[in-house]
Amino acid sequence: MSTGFVDLHCHSTASDGVLTPTQVVELAKRSNLSALALTDHDTVAGVGEAASAAGSLGLDFIAGIEISAEYPSPGTMHILGYGVDPENPQLKSLTAELIAGRDNRNPRIVAKLNELGVAVTMKEWEDEAKGSVLGRPHLAAILHRKGYVSSIKQAFDKYIGQGAPAYFDKERLTPRQAIERIRASGGVPVLAHPIQLRTENDAQLERVVKDLLDLGLAGLEVIHSDHDAALVERYTQLADRFGLIKTGGSDFHGSNKPNIELGLARGRRIPREFYERLIEKHATQQQQAPVRA
Ligand code: AMP
Ligand code: ZN
Ligand code: FE
Ligand code: FE
Repeated sequence: MSTGFVDLHCHSTASDGVLTPTQVVELAKRSNLSALALTDHDTVAGVGEAASAAGSLGLDFIAGIEISAEYPSPGTMHILGYGVDPENPQLKSLTAELIAGRDNRNPRIVAKLNELGVAVTMKEWEDEAKGSVLGRPHLAAILHRKGYVSSIKQAFDKYIGQGAPAYFDKERLTPRQAIERIRASGGVPVLAHPIQLRTENDAQLERVVKDLLDLGLAGLEVIHSDHDAALVERYTQLADRFGLIKTGGSDFHGSNKPNIELGLARGRRIPREFYERLIEKHATQQQQAPVRA
């Protein structure tokens, strides 16, 4: 019997979250969650610490990562990889490439902001990120603190979000590469927050999901803070129809995303069953295609 609730999508200071991996796990415990996945952008630097904190507190834990794939604007495609092995050499080279893609992009954002009269430096961004993966929410926090904008959201709308003047894309993997490389790293690939694809209708969404399925996609994130009840229902049906596992998470980032609470996605909790099916899928996938070191 699976009882209780989980959160399978959250960020720590290893990427652009505000709480350390240990603090995220402690909060999960206080929020009465029974399992957690940490899904930082482009890195697994936090999962070791989170796993040991979870072990001490008696919380189930699965490692995760969230990576961006190429997708036509204005949509975005994020793929989650669950159960990746941090020691896997393929994963290490994957994260190194993803971070190199950011290192290419970030100075361009700062240069453009300077041109627009916003005084900010790479050094300030690096200090804000405290040695972790540099994300735009860190930069948004600096712009907010310096009074250029009145909120993190406004920093994106006015300066660094898609369509804004200081927006620059980072090099991305194709969806095929993202899925293949997650699988090669021992991970279960899951399409994150399908709403953010901004597909125009059900038929288009189905085509995208079907294509990803052919590439090896294993699951769909049906519960997410961006999904209202109707969307949860629609994505649930889609997952069931295609034989994809269902996952869910809040996409908690701490105060970088002030409206999101750990364990809650638009007021909805995430059933533990999602975690259990994910673990099963991970185990079967490992048996089917043992990962070579
Ligand atoms: P990056 O990985 O550096 O490109 O930054 C991605 C992060 O920025 C993710 O946490 C996104 O949710 C966040 N983000 C992207 N667009 C917006 C926006 N318009 N408002 C708030 N956060 C955003
Ligand atoms: Zn983030
Ligand atoms: Fe995402
Ligand atoms: Fe996320």
